[in-house]
Amino acid sequence: MERTLCIIKPDAVRKNHVGDIVAMIQAAGFKVLGMQLTRISAEQAGAFYAVHKERPFYGELVSFMSSGPVVPIALEKENAVADWRALIGSTDPAEAAEGTIRKRFAASKGENAVHGSDSVENGMIEIGFFFSEKDLVANR
Ligand code: UDP
Ligand code: MG
Repeated sequence: MERTLCIIKPDAVRKNHVGDIVAMIQAAGFKVLGMQLTRISAEQAGAFYAVHKERPFYGELVSFMSSGPVVPIALEKENAVADWRALIGSTDPAEAAEGTIRKRFAASKGENAVHGSDSVENGMIEIGFFFSEKDLVANR
């Protein structure tokens, strides 16, 4: 079993897509181990995306991610990281495949509805940003 982190981003929460996205997650066979409706500060968003600090879009990304409520979801499944990336679709919705979350719900490369971890190791780190192991185990 593998874990990965989903974050339903502020654009999708604002547009009331949380229910549809959770339905897609469950239909694809992911187990929801943890889920929150919360808000992150610019400082927290900056730390979460620290790997992108030198990129030109970093400032915009930090202000977007702290602009409204988000829904972090800890997911578990065999091959969770790659399967979640596949269900999300490409970063740029213009390039996202039919049936993916970003194809359906993303407005742009920046406001693209959901986050997905890019590796098993980062998935564990990112889940730890929002959830304690004790809660996740209790929900298994
Ligand atoms: N992003 C952006 N402009 C870009 C590339 C990325 O605003 O040209 C934002 C977008 O919200 C993206 C996030 O930064 O989801 C992280 O970028 P990454 O390349 O890791 O894309 P992801 O893993 O989310 O597909
Ligand atoms: Mg990424």
